[in-house]
Amino acid sequence: MIEEGSRVLLVDKRGKRYLVKVEDREFHTDLGILRLGELIGKPYGSRIESHKGETFVALKPDINDIIAKMKRGPQIVHPKDAGIIIAYAGISPGDTVIEAGAGSGALTIFLANAVGPEGRVISYEVRKDFYEIAKRNIELAGFSDRVVLKNRSIYDGIEEETADHIVLDLPQPENVLPHAVDVLKPGGYFVAYTPCMNQVHRFFRALEEYREHFMRPRVVEVLVREQEVKRDCMRPKTTMLAHTGYITFLRKL
Ligand code: SAM
Repeated sequence: MIEEGSRVLLVDKRGKRYLVKVEDREFHTDLGILRLGELIGKPYGSRIESHKGETFVALKPDINDIIAKMKRGPQIVHPKDAGIIIAYAGISPGDTVIEAGAGSGALTIFLANAVGPEGRVISYEVRKDFYEIAKRNIELAGFSDRVVLKNRSIYDGIEEETADHIVLDLPQPENVLPHAVDVLKPGGYFVAYTPCMNQVHRFFRALEEYREHFMRPRVVEVLVREQEVKRDCMRPKTTMLAHTGYITFLRKL
């Protein structure tokens, strides 16, 4: 049931999406004005009509809807990369994950979704302005109960005694290695997302000193090629998201 104060995703006939908070108020679109209060008490999937007679469907937003519409600070981790981080590291309900930097909070939201209500994501963000953006976005996604956000540098140390996994999206993941060996549980993953090749190379040089603590590293890049399907022709779309980042996976021994 749609409650007063909850968020719904309105979808119009063109597929245009609007993330709105349901309250007794008007919402203006180019297809007419909606009275959002009409949705209170109705099930998700209900239709609402604008004053011009245009129909909108009210869906329950998922985390991708929230991430698509939320305010952004720094560049976010793309779902294709978040997906493989969670899958390859085996991040599961109930896990405790230490993350840095939170940035806009997109990867934090994916991780919080994966660990579930019994799990925890402890996320370090050094910049106060990004910390505030991430905090708001995590609240918007409804994960404040399972995310602990810290406005500090993870390079200065990890305050937690133990973690199932450590997931990093920051410039120098090698600076976290000395802290990670003490905190990461055997079998857990140290994951480093870095946009540039030279960052991976620098990380590997630093890793030489810590090799005894980890299994053989694995580095991947994820390419997703969306297809265009027409009645007479199916082919890859002309443009694609070519590069986002390299993801390094290290498993703790
Ligand atoms: N993964 C985030 C997302 O999906 O929204 C984006 C992360 S952004 C590219 C990198 C973030 O790392 C920035 O917000 C930056 O301030 C933060 N950062 C850099 N060094 C840090 C450190 N030593 N400790 C904590 N955060 C740090």
